Amino acid sequence: MKQPDLDLITALVHHPYQPPSDFVALQPAVHKASTVVFPDVAALRNRRWLDKSGYTYGLHGTPTSYQLEERLCTLEGGKQCLLAPSGLAAIACVALALLGTGDEVLIPDNAYGPNKSLAQAELLQWGISHAFYDPMDVADLAARITPRTRLVWLEAPGSVSMEFPDLAAMVALCRERGVISALDNTWGAGLAFRPFDLDGDGSHRLGVDISVHALTKYPSGGGDVLMGSVITVDQVLHLRLKLTHMRLGIGVSGNDCETLLRALPSVALRYRAHDAAARELAGWLQRHPCVVQVLHPALPGSPGHAHWQQLCGGAFGGQGAAAGLFSVVFDPRHSQARVDAFCDSLRLFKLGYSWGGPTSLVVPYEIESMRERALPQLRPGTVVRFNVGLEAVEDLRADLAQALEAAFS
Ligand SMILES: *Cc1c(COP(=O)(O)O)cnc(C)c1O
Repeated sequence: MKQPDLDLITALVHHPYQPPSDFVALQPAVHKASTVVFPDVAALRNRRWLDKSGYTYGLHGTPTSYQLEERLCTLEGGKQCLLAPSGLAAIACVALALLGTGDEVLIPDNAYGPNKSLAQAELLQWGISHAFYDPMDVADLAARITPRTRLVWLEAPGSVSMEFPDLAAMVALCRERGVISALDNTWGAGLAFRPFDLDGDGSHRLGVDISVHALTKYPSGGGDVLMGSVITVDQVLHLRLKLTHMRLGIGVSGNDCETLLRALPSVALRYRAHDAAARELAGWLQRHPCVVQVLHPALPGSPGHAHWQQLCGGAFGGQGAAAGLFSVVFDPRHSQARVDAFCDSLRLFKLGYSWGGPTSLVVPYEIESMRERALPQLRPGTVVRFNVGLEAVEDLRADLAQALEAAFS
């Protein structure tokens, strides 16, 4: 269909063929672009991208990224969404948008490690101070909020040590003191509790201001996409975040959005499967003589279990929701080397970071070096964290049994 007056190479670029526009399919299309074409100069001059009523440039949104944003708002009960190329980029975007020289950010001592590192390196270098508060002590957080406090991070439960905080009380405190609260909601994933409606009664009286989610984990479910989201319910706050997001140029790819759109319909089913298997294995390990403590918020005796029960206990028809993660403290009479040998002996559980994918993972941690304060809720011993994948639970139990036997007997 070469146009006669154009050179062949020009005709390949400016090709007149347009497919019919009535293609109706259930699966979202992958739209990819840097340039978005305007019909005329007036449209170009009047371009509006802040309210998502049109398109301006690939970085500022495509039909594919808008679709993903809307579905994620549904998942978490929010109204506006920004996408970032990783969970950590989403965390950094919130910090850069809301903090300036002289401000202070408060972070729970058990938070996702790189969030703490960001505060200790870049933020500090820009004159933004930080303090790590005790996640299990609302009074400690209250005492640390000063007129310089601009942002309070929350995480439920904490990374690795799995303590479940009194999230509702902490959010209420931030509200009362007029400080923005941002929750790292990766564990809850929008499924364990409603971050913008912590009472769970639909009243929205009590909720976080910002929910950040590492979509890399449960929404992806495949261990093959890195992405993060920043969800809000307040348009003014959203626009503040969005302008920083735009100036930083942290866009996401259409293909990655499509991978997430494809995985999202099964996220609740997968989450429940991870949860059920993790609870079974955590309960089994709790009875093993080498283990002195199992850190899993749904297990009675785990730090903050009552708070978990209150916030997440009603999910999934009253069974409660608890993701697929737990940690184990091995009896200190077993050396670190023995515990390392246990991890090395596992066959189905692979050594590696992250979670939410189909493959079970294990990581040993030196938890004392990760915390500023003592951990009175934790028994002494070596901590190992498990991410339970989607394998058959009997196979995982057999794998744990053979590795315990190999390392500790
Ligand atoms: C993985 C994770 C992140 C960061 O996500 P990436 O996409 O890997 O950058 C943030 N918070 C928590 C709790 C996480 O587990």
